[in-house]
Amino acid sequence: MQPPRTDWDAIVIGGGPAGSTTARYIAEGGADVLVIDGRDSIGSPLQCGELVPSNDEMRRLCPDVPEIDDLLRTPDSAVSMRTSEMRLVPPSGKPLCYDFEGMVLNRVVHDEALVELAESKGAQYLVGSRVESVDGETVRLRDGSEYTSRVVIGAGGHNDPLRKTKWEVKSLIIPVKFVLMSGDFEDALELHFGSMAPGGYAWKFPKLGGANIGLGIQTALARGKSLNEYSEEFISRYDGRVEFRGAGSLPMSGSISSFVKGNHLLVGDAAGMVLPSNGAGITIAMIGGRIAGQVVAQHLRDGTPLSEYEVRWEEQMGKVMRNSKRAFRLGSLLFRAPDWLLNLAFNRLTKPLIWRAVTCRPLLS
Ligand SMILES: Cc1cc2nc3c(=O)[nH]c(=O)nc-3n(C[C@H](O)[C@H](O)[C@H](O)COP(=O)(O)OP(=O)(O)OC[C@H]3O[C@@H](n4cnc5c(N)ncnc54)[C@H](O)[C@@H]3O)c2cc1C
Repeated sequence: MQPPRTDWDAIVIGGGPAGSTTARYIAEGGADVLVIDGRDSIGSPLQCGELVPSNDEMRRLCPDVPEIDDLLRTPDSAVSMRTSEMRLVPPSGKPLCYDFEGMVLNRVVHDEALVELAESKGAQYLVGSRVESVDGETVRLRDGSEYTSRVVIGAGGHNDPLRKTKWEVKSLIIPVKFVLMSGDFEDALELHFGSMAPGGYAWKFPKLGGANIGLGIQTALARGKSLNEYSEEFISRYDGRVEFRGAGSLPMSGSISSFVKGNHLLVGDAAGMVLPSNGAGITIAMIGGRIAGQVVAQHLRDGTPLSEYEVRWEEQMGKVMRNSKRAFRLGSLLFRAPDWLLNLAFNRLTKPLIWRAVTCRPLLS
C-alpha cells in the first residue's frame, strides 16, 4: 500500500536491523520517518548464520556501548537456541573451547520484531518497493515514484543505492553459502578455519531440532575451486536433512571512514559495520542504527550537525572496530598458511590470544 504522503523528515532505505533500528530512534525522537524496502516481507528469504551474542556477552564485547538492554530487546520467539560454548576448530578437528553466551536466532522473526518495534514508535514502512536512486532530497523508486526527505539514510546493505552513487569506497566482500539442516547436533557453536574455507571460515550453529551450517571464502584465495564446492564439502561432514539453502555476502573490511555526506548517511552493512574478525553484523548494525537515529532526530529538532553520528560511533565502537580489523588482517595471513601450521598454531599457549583476536580485544595487555 502506498503511504499517502511523499514528503518526510527522514527516509531510510532498507528495513533490516540497521534501517529498522535507525527508524525506531528517529520516530522516538519525534520526527516522522518512512522506511522503504524492496522486500515484502522484510527479512525473507533468510540470509544469515543467525548467531548473536547474548546481551551480557555484548556488554563484554562492546564495553563502551551504553544501555545494551534498551537497544537489544530480542523477543523469546526470535530465539531458537541459547548456547554457552564456542569451539574454534583448526583443520585437525581438535577444537579450542571457550565459554560464550550466544543466541541462535530465528532471524526472520527477529527482523520482523524490529519492524514492529519501529512501527510502535511511529515509523512507517513502504515494502515491495526498490529505491533506484537518490538525488539530494529526492528518493526515486524503480516504479518511477518520488519521495522527498530532509535527511536520507542508506541502510540497504553493501549494495545500497546511496552508497553506490555517493561513496567511492570498496570493501572486501566475502561470498557465503549456508543451509538449515534438521537433525541432532551438539549444543556448542563451531567456527572452523583452514583450507576448507580459504581466507574465511565455516560455521555450525545449533538450532532447535537442527543447525545452521555455512561457509564463506575469499574468492582470490580459492585456488580455482568454487564456493559451491567448498560449501558442499563442509556441509557433507554433517548428518541431517537439508531443509533450506541460502546465500549472500558479507562486507569484511570493517567500517568505512566516513558515514555522512551532506544530508545523506550510511548505516549497517552499507557503512561496513561488520566486525571482520568474527562476522558479527546484526548487533553492530543496531548499535550504528541507534546512534544514527538519535543524531538524525536531534538534527531535525535543533540543528545538531549530522557529523555527530561519526563522533559517537568512534566513542562507542572505535576501539573494538580497530582491534577487529587488526585481528582480521593477522588472521588473513595466518589462514593462508598450510593446514599443518594452522594445527600447530591452535594450541594451549595461543588459546587466550586467539580468543582475544576473535572477540576484538587488543592482543597484548
Ligand atoms: C549468509 C550470511 C550469514 C551471516 N551470518 C551472520 C551471523 O550469524 N551473525 C551476525 O551477526 N551477522 C551475520 N551476517 C551479517 C548480517 O546479516 C548483516 O551484517 C546484517 O544483516 C546487516 O544489517 P543491515 O540492516 O545493514 O542490512 P540487511 O539486513 O542486509 O538489510 C538491508 C535491507 O535493505 C533492503 N534493500 C537493499 N537495497 C534496497 C533498495 N535499493 N531499495 C529498497 N530496499 C533495499 C533489503 O531488502 C534488506 O531488507 C551474515 C550475513 C550473511 C550474508
